[in-house]
Amino acid sequence: MSEAPIFQRLALIGVGLIGSSIARAARLTGVAGSIVATARSEATRKRVAELKLANAVVDTNAEAVAGADLVIMCIPVGACGETARQIAPHLARGAVISDVGSVKGSVARDVAPHLPDHVHFIPAHPVAGTEHSGPDAGFAELFINRWCILTPSAETSAHAIERLTAFWKAFGAKVECMSPDHHDLVLAITSHLPHLIAYTIVGTAEELGQVTSSEVIKFSAGGFRDFTRIAASDPTMWRDVFLSNKDAVLEMLGTFNEDLSKLTRAIRRGDGQALFDHFARTRAIRRGILDVGQDSSAPDFGRPHAELPPLPRPYSSE
Ligand code: NAP
Repeated sequence: MSEAPIFQRLALIGVGLIGSSIARAARLTGVAGSIVATARSEATRKRVAELKLANAVVDTNAEAVAGADLVIMCIPVGACGETARQIAPHLARGAVISDVGSVKGSVARDVAPHLPDHVHFIPAHPVAGTEHSGPDAGFAELFINRWCILTPSAETSAHAIERLTAFWKAFGAKVECMSPDHHDLVLAITSHLPHLIAYTIVGTAEELGQVTSSEVIKFSAGGFRDFTRIAASDPTMWRDVFLSNKDAVLEMLGTFNEDLSKLTRAIRRGDGQALFDHFARTRAIRRGILDVGQDSSAPDFGRPHAELPPLPRPYSSE
């Protein structure tokens, strides 16, 4: 529990996986004096109230932001501009306005023009998530040891950045600032392209003629199932990510296609050395990720393995 709240009143607009994780972490840590939440649908607002994720659940964005000194939009990237337009006249003087969107350039462009000069706009992206959605999917520990990237402009108040940094650090996150465009380039290769590949390969498997869908599912432990987890991610969120980060994704996709062509050629020519060298390099990258604690080193992602069954009767000594 922190000694004094960093913000007096936190307004959450959108309470899905990320919004509800923030609400849970904020309640546990005491970083906000009170939490006011709203969501687009009545069903979600009702569920947020049932789960007691906020001190108050209100029907409109305008009611949610009134008197709040921190406002976080936890909604799809494509909805941030219109939401900013709606809340702008109701924002408290000196409030920090932020978001959690997976793309930053488009959010900065869509939101900033609507906001009054008397607030501090600091776009943010907690690089943490799961393939689940909705207020039931969140958990307070989601941000522990994960990065939260802030993309303030050069003119943003240092004090406002410090407060938002302290807020995310209270959840166990590590915070780094960079420009929105640099964020989008980094995330295009580390997150957006891997999702596109997963969506592609799972779709391809479904369309195969000679291998039945039941065989794809049955033998999925060969690697396919790890792609299916990523490809189960929210369609609305990922549609918006690719539409909003088009240029960086297309640039990375161009490089990826060239590298795929090189590997295709190595396989066609039987160039085992090229394949081995490539795979050895990528294995070292995996080791690097484990070294900095960004994943578990447990084999098979720490999945539990069943015990060996007893030997069938005719062979057992019983
Ligand atoms: P989520 O679980 O699907 O929740 C989305 C929330 O946004 C819900 O409250 C939903 O309201 C609301 N919403 C949906 N469309 C809206 C619209 N057009 N206008 C206003 N509100 C709308 O999504 P999430 O995973 O929390 O993602 C939220 C944001 O976090 C996205 O910008 C995403 O890029 C970012 N993010 C996600 C992850 C991840 O792994 N999921 C990680 C980091 C960042 P209703 O429930 O009422 O429909």
